[in-house]
Amino acid sequence: MRTIWNEQRLQRLFWRYNRRFFGDALKGWTVDTDELHQGLYGCCNEKTRCISIRLPSHTSDHLVRSTLVHEMAHAATNSSHGRRWRSEIERLKAGEGLSRGGSRCTDGASSRLEPRWPLA
Ligand SMILES: [Zn+2]
Repeated sequence: MRTIWNEQRLQRLFWRYNRRFFGDALKGWTVDTDELHQGLYGCCNEKTRCISIRLPSHTSDHLVRSTLVHEMAHAATNSSHGRRWRSEIERLKAGEGLSRGGSRCTDGASSRLEPRWPLA
């Protein structure tokens, strides 16, 4: 059965992941479901401290969770997919036993391609 996702649920999940994965280090961030370009999964805006998740792009609960973690890794590092961001993702995978596959999204902090690691 699919979860009904909305901003409240995403925000609660953000807080849970923030505690579990990031030691509550992400302060003052919010999550919204503002309409993003078609084809995008998510976006992380460092200026407004806002993570946007484009729900219609997602076909499963674990994809929604994966995108949220992907964007949270941007929030914890920067908007590129450079070394810092990649090592953050590796840390999350190693710490939580997430399966490999990684992320292949491009274009700054926007997620264009399906995130691949499953999250409980
Ligand atoms: Zn990204």
